[in-house]
Amino acid sequence: MTANLLEFDLEGLAVFCEGLGEKRFRATQLFRWIHQRGASDFDQMSDLAKSLREKLKTSAHIAALPVVSQHMSADGTIKWLFDVGDGNAVESVFIPEDDRGTLCVSSQAGCAVGCRFCSTGHQGFSRNLTTGEILAQLWFAEHFLRKHLNTDDRVISNVVMMGMGEPLQNYSALVPALKAMLDDHGYGLSRRRVTVSTSGVVPMIDRLAQDCPVALAVSLHAPYDELRDNLVPLNRKYPLDELLQACTRYLGSAPRDFITFEYCMLDGVNDQPEHARQLIDLVRLHARAGLRCKFNLIPFNPFPASGLLRSPQARVQAFAKILLEAGLVTTVRKTRGDDIDAACGQLAGDVKDRTRVQDRIAQQRTIPLVPVAPDSH
Ligand code: SF4
Repeated sequence: MTANLLEFDLEGLAVFCEGLGEKRFRATQLFRWIHQRGASDFDQMSDLAKSLREKLKTSAHIAALPVVSQHMSADGTIKWLFDVGDGNAVESVFIPEDDRGTLCVSSQAGCAVGCRFCSTGHQGFSRNLTTGEILAQLWFAEHFLRKHLNTDDRVISNVVMMGMGEPLQNYSALVPALKAMLDDHGYGLSRRRVTVSTSGVVPMIDRLAQDCPVALAVSLHAPYDELRDNLVPLNRKYPLDELLQACTRYLGSAPRDFITFEYCMLDGVNDQPEHARQLIDLVRLHARAGLRCKFNLIPFNPFPASGLLRSPQARVQAFAKILLEAGLVTTVRKTRGDDIDAACGQLAGDVKDRTRVQDRIAQQRTIPLVPVAPDSH
């Protein structure tokens, strides 16, 4: 088996080149060919010595992920389904905007967290993606789009690790992929424009701050533990107080001076004025220790198995108003690509569930959601 060069960040590729008896700077040339120019054929790499190209042909390859399908939305959003083998497929979504192009990338085939409102969570979990499989989504999308738009300029300016999976439960594959995204010889993305979104894996938030601090988004979705335990089961392990303390610590290394809290608006579940006031109390409590944050309210994209409904627009606006009047920066996410099931929480791919996640979620559905907590703050 030859090595898939998409599995390496630049340091990893340098070690690989040294193993071939080559100088480390060859890795920089090779890395640029792969990531900046989208090359997968060693014969294209004209500034590499012929002897190195011959060695690479027998010891390495660049493994693109087969594209199962591509759907383009009326608003320009594109969703790809990539085959990752063994009956699993993962999705990536490109979201064009006037001033940026964002790629939403998957980190796992399925997800073991099992959030109640998330289509991926309902699919169960099969396996972690490798670094090469994470990077192959960006590698393909960037070079496909350049060809499609007939440009040599960079098209993808932002990456959000918000596709299928909990990225911080696939930490060892995630970090080299992030490093390749940030590397000036790779995609050269600014740390502020690469976002890891987590449901709250507290110890890994601390490690990310040390190893590769990028922008952080946290799926909050509830203002108190009893409700969040039900919506985001990981909360039972890392409850809100611990999570918000980790967010505050993260700000010491973060490239942005705030954490984004994602809040999916669920009709009658977490969208009442009381919930907004409880959120304000929660955030104020931690602001004394240095927490700074923004809220991103996400209109829920309903799917039948969830048994949940989207909050009416007026309620979302009323919720946002309460937060804004308390001085919290709050945005309501525009829904993009919902005509191709590419909107937030809709990514399902194809996953062979090797866990009991689906059973667990089915059991959770029998537990009634608590509409409003007693005033706990
Ligand atoms: S919201 Fe994220 S962490 Fe929760 S089930 Fe979906 S993919 Fe997993």
